[in-house]
Amino acid sequence: MKIIDLHCDTLYKHIELKTDYSLCCNDGHISEEGLRAGGYMAQCFAIYQPTRITGGDGYSFFIEQCDYFRKFSKECSLIRCAVTGKDIENNYNQGKISAVITVENADFLNNRIERLKEARNRGIRILGLIHNGENCLGFPQSRDKRLDCLPLKDFGKEVIDAINYTDLIADVSHLNYGGFRDVAELSKKPFIATHSGCREVFDHPRNLYDEQIKSIAQSGGVVGVLFYSCFLNGTDSTAAEDIIRHIEHLINVGGEDVAAIGTDFDGMDCEMFISGAGGMQKLAEMLIKKFGYSIAEKICFRNAIRNL
Ligand SMILES: [Zn+2]
Repeated sequence: MKIIDLHCDTLYKHIELKTDYSLCCNDGHISEEGLRAGGYMAQCFAIYQPTRITGGDGYSFFIEQCDYFRKFSKECSLIRCAVTGKDIENNYNQGKISAVITVENADFLNNRIERLKEARNRGIRILGLIHNGENCLGFPQSRDKRLDCLPLKDFGKEVIDAINYTDLIADVSHLNYGGFRDVAELSKKPFIATHSGCREVFDHPRNLYDEQIKSIAQSGGVVGVLFYSCFLNGTDSTAAEDIIRHIEHLINVGGEDVAAIGTDFDGMDCEMFISGAGGMQKLAEMLIKKFGYSIAEKICFRNAIRNL
């Protein structure tokens, strides 16, 4: 079974460690060997901008990470960069695994709309609007009802409007309730949540309400279910059944075209039923058993590639 994962923090992990940590071989969740063994078609690598880096520094950090990504993905002979679903298919047909660059926290835009175009020119396809802190676009998910209901800022609305006329895709994982509503209202094309879970299954602010799942599904977008136990079940351990429970709920609420995978590999610290990308076929087998082959295909890669 082919696999497409919509979100990991591997790039940031490598940058933070500031060592010669290699993508080809390492002891984290994602390596070239793991992606091969896991049957991957594509892995999305997020450029994550920590909230401590703001203003002009955010922009230079973004450029630095784009350059690092190019270097990092060229190290391994099996991995090739891709931007669109078509690139991913072409790479796959040539026996290559695609690396797709995405953004988590678009604060580097720093109120300058022309930077959207530059992001796209640098190969960004998915733009994660926010992380866990307020930025120039809006506010993150919060247990505080007042904060959670705040709308997107004017610049955030301008970005969503501009995205309608580009081939960028807005990613609403981490975005607050009020911001989500604005994205849903202003988007004229599919938008996605790269790494989220379902509130009805486990009540955590990082997870999506049923109405939000329906709204993403109606737009034609997808939700990548994450593997982090804090959001799946509130313990420090993730079983395959936890992931499957969230996927099943997504399908029941939004239909079989909305479910995808967005692990959050290398961005989480919990026990897991697999040690990383290399074990993904184990999950694929369980998905086939639970939902049948054609729905399992949609979850594992078809729904994701339709959006890319
Ligand atoms: Zn995240």
